[in-house]
Amino acid sequence: AILSRAAFPALPASFETPRYDVRSVSSGIVHLGLGGFHRAHMARYTHDLMGQDPEALAWGIQGTGLRAADRDLLDALAGQDGLYSLIEREGAREHRAVIGSIVAAIDASESSEALLAAIVAPETRIVSTTVTENGYHLDRATKTLNFSSPDIIADLTNPERPRTVPGILVEAYRRRRNARLPAFTALCCDNIQHNGHVLKAAVLALAGRQDPELAEWIAAQARFPNSMVDRITPVPTAEEIAAFASETGLEDHASLHAEIFRQWVIEDDFAAGRPAWEKVGAQFVDDVAPYEFMKLRLLNASHLAIAGLGQLSGYVLISETIEDPLIRRYMAALMDRETGPTLPPVPGIDIVQYKRTLIDRFANRAIRDTTQRVNTDAPINVLVDPIRDRLASDRPIELLALGLAAWCRRVTGRGEDGEPIRVLHPMAELLARKAREGGEDPTLLLSITELFGALGRDQRLIAAVGGWLTSIYDKGTKATIAAGADKGL
Ligand code: NAD
Repeated sequence: AILSRAAFPALPASFETPRYDVRSVSSGIVHLGLGGFHRAHMARYTHDLMGQDPEALAWGIQGTGLRAADRDLLDALAGQDGLYSLIEREGAREHRAVIGSIVAAIDASESSEALLAAIVAPETRIVSTTVTENGYHLDRATKTLNFSSPDIIADLTNPERPRTVPGILVEAYRRRRNARLPAFTALCCDNIQHNGHVLKAAVLALAGRQDPELAEWIAAQARFPNSMVDRITPVPTAEEIAAFASETGLEDHASLHAEIFRQWVIEDDFAAGRPAWEKVGAQFVDDVAPYEFMKLRLLNASHLAIAGLGQLSGYVLISETIEDPLIRRYMAALMDRETGPTLPPVPGIDIVQYKRTLIDRFANRAIRDTTQRVNTDAPINVLVDPIRDRLASDRPIELLALGLAAWCRRVTGRGEDGEPIRVLHPMAELLARKAREGGEDPTLLLSITELFGALGRDQRLIAAVGGWLTSIYDKGTKATIAAGADKGL
């Protein structure tokens, strides 16, 4: 049998099932980019709230995917009443729950019409997104809408049949305005600094090209709160799905694992109400910037730096990577000496404790997060931004440069013993070409203005990255990290 409402009695007692009647959940939110992260994070918070606050039952989520790759998951959820199991682990601690906050799955990979209809429906008050940075079609250096993206050009030519996230939001706002319906809140939950502002600027830029009055209406009526999201959610594996089946006798093709830690800091600025997520641990603040800054600088920058070094060293898992004492030491030094000192004070956060917790979270063997996922997911800005800040005041960047050198080596698409590395990046081909051509000289790669801007021509950066890269090519990654540690880095 398949996981469904009817199958609840068959689940072992170790699985917590919804404390509310899942049939009484109605939709108030449409989510774009229904991947693992949203289901482990916002859908989890919303589910928890539904268990204690009957008003939350009106904030059910319709999840959608814009790409053909999403279809299997969407089909699985549609066949399971939107239900899925979420297993949260850290060391010996484990929570197992069936999450009931998703009310529908909409496949928008071929047409956005059903998705637009869902967003335009009067009960939709929030449209949330986790589509990775690529899903917003931004110019990577300026973080503004990239009008030369072929998909954005297509949406401008055919605004009524949009394919991109900014295009879909603009068209949905247009239809709501024309129907005299209030605007919804667009809640970006991707790891982008000032994510709400970035999304707002992209939507207004696109709307402005189509209809300046619409752009004015959106600017006046809609809201785009910034948010900081955190919970490590690995890509679900076939083994996890098989394990669920053998333990429960039920099939769950949308089963998911995540760490126990979770954090969500949201700017309290919503156009048409919101769930009381603060009752289940989310934090509403006036200014998210210090929290997102802390997370991007400490978590995301460290994650990408060690994932690159780890993958080149032959480690598959992040936990294996951080168990390497030299890499663990490198990460601690990176945070203490280079990324941490760029942070302003963060209200209510003990930074020393936060850094220690991060190392423990990366070392969590109970979730199988991979160097491949982290390398794929983290945009290079998480290293470039702190480098830019430090160089602006002429401070050392050696440790950040080592992380960037690993990235330069990795994007060749070949590991140290010649095995292929899958580089899933919109510019992967160009990156591989420049990385191979440049070899130990990073100048060619760093001159890609779209990724590095003017910083890529800074001789201090070229020299620092070049030094490490030469060593990585000559001696290998492990020996390079060891040599750095010997020099006190
Ligand atoms: P995922 O691959 O499971 O899902 C991502 C979703 O984004 C999918 O629906 C996919 O189709 C969609 N998408 C990707 N590129 C797109 C594009 N160009 N246009 C439209 N849709 C696109 O990934 P995930 O683990 O759910 O992570 C998604 C995002 O969530 C990350 O990029 C990150 O910003 C944020 N996040 C993830 C984690 C984590 O640990 N996984 C933690 C914090 C934040």
